[in-house]
Amino acid sequence: MGIHEKLAALEHIYRVYEDALVGYDVACRRGCDRCCTRNVTLSTLEAYKISIHLVKHGEEALFGKLSSVLGKPRFIPRITTNGLAEICLRGEDPPEEASDPDWGPCPLLADGECPLYAVRPFGCRCMVSARRCDEAGFAEMAPFIVTLNNVMLQYIEHIDRDGFSGNLADLLTFLASDEHRRRYREGNLDSPPPGLIPNRPVRALMVPPRHRERIMPIIKALEKVPPG
Ligand code: SF4
Ligand code: SF4
Repeated sequence: MGIHEKLAALEHIYRVYEDALVGYDVACRRGCDRCCTRNVTLSTLEAYKISIHLVKHGEEALFGKLSSVLGKPRFIPRITTNGLAEICLRGEDPPEEASDPDWGPCPLLADGECPLYAVRPFGCRCMVSARRCDEAGFAEMAPFIVTLNNVMLQYIEHIDRDGFSGNLADLLTFLASDEHRRRYREGNLDSPPPGLIPNRPVRALMVPPRHRERIMPIIKALEKVPPG
């Protein structure tokens, strides 16, 4: 898959996700920022989409804001979602991974607004709650939405299986480089630098038996990938 096909497939996944959420109570609104922590993760494909948006709109200064948290506590994943699915398939316990919302807000957040809302990654899109987190004190997510989120993350990683995953700050700092963007676009990335991990294809979807029937039409919609 070339970069244009991958980007078209990513847009398709975002659309399928939005359609799948129709009918659920979602209290999330633009400007609601409690979930905007510095622990957001994403794949190279999403980071590439964001990086070309920043370059196109002359907003390269945001790369600097992101790199400002590199020496600070943040969630740095050691396994991807598809890696986690493989661990579960083998019946093993996944390793504990430390993540704390109190480590601080997303470095991009400005006056409660996201400067790249239109191109925000799935890790931000999938933070949906039935009640406002500032009122409830936590996000209230239906169990099926947790399954739906995992499936979407697995598909995004699958179409970007030659790429990497990592924290928003680490991955956008990596793709701030013209050279890294070119190599990614051409499918010529070397092994990931420290802090980033290689993506994996889907071996098994993380869908509990009680959600299998309900997820099937969504999987069918996902597989209708548009031409790039
Ligand atoms: S998950 Fe919570 S904090 Fe985030 S947008 Fe939704 S209601 Fe607001
Ligand atoms: S990228 Fe935007 S939506 Fe995502 S955590 Fe940062 S400010 Fe929030």
